Amino acid sequence: MIDSIQYIRARHIATMTPAGVIEDGCIAIQNGRILAVGPTRDLNPPATAASIDGLLTPGLVNAHTHLELSDRLPGERPTEGFAGWLVGMLQRSHTEASEMEKLVAEAIRIGVDQCLRFGVTAVGDISRQCHLTRPLLRESPLRTVSFGEVQAMAQRRNLLQERTAVAIDDAHSIDQLRIGITPHAPYSVEADGYRYCLDLARQRGLPLTTHLAESADEAPFLADHSGALRRLWDWIGAFDEQVPTFDRGPIAYAESLGLLAYPSLLAHVNYCSDSDLDLLAAGQASVVWCPRTHDYFGHPPHRWRAMRERGIRVCVGTDSCASSPDLNVVDDLRLVRRQNPDVSASELWPLITSEAADALRWNRDGDEPAIGRLAIGAAADWVAWPTRSNDPLAEVLDESKMLPTQVRPAEVPSPGIAGRG
Ligand SMILES: [Zn+2]
Repeated sequence: MIDSIQYIRARHIATMTPAGVIEDGCIAIQNGRILAVGPTRDLNPPATAASIDGLLTPGLVNAHTHLELSDRLPGERPTEGFAGWLVGMLQRSHTEASEMEKLVAEAIRIGVDQCLRFGVTAVGDISRQCHLTRPLLRESPLRTVSFGEVQAMAQRRNLLQERTAVAIDDAHSIDQLRIGITPHAPYSVEADGYRYCLDLARQRGLPLTTHLAESADEAPFLADHSGALRRLWDWIGAFDEQVPTFDRGPIAYAESLGLLAYPSLLAHVNYCSDSDLDLLAAGQASVVWCPRTHDYFGHPPHRWRAMRERGIRVCVGTDSCASSPDLNVVDDLRLVRRQNPDVSASELWPLITSEAADALRWNRDGDEPAIGRLAIGAAADWVAWPTRSNDPLAEVLDESKMLPTQVRPAEVPSPGIAGRG
């Protein structure tokens, strides 16, 4: 069935493509995809076309969050650092299965609502409870890469295969809900576990993400099982000395495992030396960092600009509500703007649109609709902003309370998936 063409005019359209920001622009939409985008005078829409008094952007892409934690609150800045914060997270994960189902359902509801309120139409979601989150996210309007989380280290290393099978179970996958895998972090998955996950990702073409160089505690833990993360393991009481060691830090570790030769998505990379930058620049991995979460933990300044100068793809996410006030990824970008007033708004916006979409590998196949851009053939996910000025991208970032007035994730019929809708 072919839908009629819908036209939307706007004072400005920020395409996130080389076409830049179009003044008095128009998009034409059919079957959930963008049919045309350009100046209104070129598209010649009917007089009845919808009109946005402000800015139209693509739906935003939050490449790193944990929606199942959206019922949490970050609390005071953690005095015992990242590892101390993790203890608090673990204490709350000892919940009865029936109770967990309710908590996760409520968290997903809160998380999806927040995304849509803040203009996010696509997420990279880390999920430990993917058997619970996927059926819910499948019914949501969001596009999701659901990264099933795998933790298997020390006395739990024998759980690797079982946990991996759950993580990549694609029973609920549809075009809008794609399956990915996430070996959690270098202090919760051993080298063999990483290699196993990477092999699976390669064989099945799955997106892969991992938390990497998130805290300064990772390097000593990898080197000789010392430091705060070892104390965390002692608190858990399940460590053993057969966990392999590696003394060149987490990024060289990722490189040694083959993770940088794959288009992996590395979450955080808050600690990155010049030689680490060289390794990243030589590979294919992208980096997603989470500015407000970064600030919450008090890490040293992130090297995202040095990364971009070296050609490393960087994008911005929120992380979860357990370390960020909410899932407003624009507020993360606003923080970046305040910290980097010399970077133009048009350079920042791709971090939550086109670059984030590419980091999630959503646009892998040339035939499928791109996201994070307003371009011909892209999914017609759009967000309207009540801007007034002639520099609307800067205005949204500088008006700290501005929220979207409309958020429209498109439903794109997918010829590849029979019987949907
Ligand atoms: Zn995370």
